Amino acid sequence: MYVDSHCHLSFPELRSRLDEIRADMAAAGVDRALCICTTLEEFEDVHGLAREHANFWCSVGVHPDTENLAEPTVDDLVGRARRPKVVAIGETGLDYHRLEGRTLDEMAWQRERFRVHIRAARETGLPLVIHTRSAADDTIGILREEAAHGETRGVFHCFTESMATARAALDLGFHISFSGILTFKSAEELRAVARFVPLERCLIETDSPYLAPVPFRGKVNSPAYVPWVAKQVAQLKALAVEDVAEATSRNFERLFLEGRNHSK
Ligand SMILES: [Zn+2]
Ligand SMILES: [Zn+2]
Repeated sequence: MYVDSHCHLSFPELRSRLDEIRADMAAAGVDRALCICTTLEEFEDVHGLAREHANFWCSVGVHPDTENLAEPTVDDLVGRARRPKVVAIGETGLDYHRLEGRTLDEMAWQRERFRVHIRAARETGLPLVIHTRSAADDTIGILREEAAHGETRGVFHCFTESMATARAALDLGFHISFSGILTFKSAEELRAVARFVPLERCLIETDSPYLAPVPFRGKVNSPAYVPWVAKQVAQLKALAVEDVAEATSRNFERLFLEGRNHSK
């Protein structure tokens, strides 16, 4: 049985087909999924998915790309994180890919928002779901600085960064989650990273509706396709796909579900 550790089932292209997607998941042996929140405005809907379905959980957070919507305070995040089935803070992090002419100085609001999420994670004891794009050094730098104020755990989701960043993330105690990108022809460097990351620190995800793995590349992604990511990880590590399914499911339970009373 597989777990999709990162999907956006509240996005319209998936939300409108939820029954069909749940049936596809069951048929593919994908028994659980973590529904990721990207705006405070979206939270009630994401949380509704987790409340209504025993095999869904959710996060609370505001994506670094979110602009012109509610800016979260630590209390906004902590209050929502205390609700049942909220098991993570995020997705949060830094994304300098779409600067739109702005300097890095002008992106200070993104770094401050990231720190707000890290403080909420410390306060609740929940793991962070980290999104980082074109901003690996600042992401690692802020996590290191904040680590001085108390331990945080979590995952670098949809990992596409270098080997050096993978090492730094692992050194900070974080997990690394691989998506369908791992199956793309051009992802040779990323496949080297996946060979390197110890299985006990690996998660798998779809990040659906985006980034469908080969052989579905270009189509609308869904949690039912996460076995294709597991298959690629298994191939790279010369393991049986069942072993990758079992290990990544166990890692998911340890990171998000155990030792918290939020998993009920
Ligand atoms: Zn992301
Ligand atoms: Zn995402």
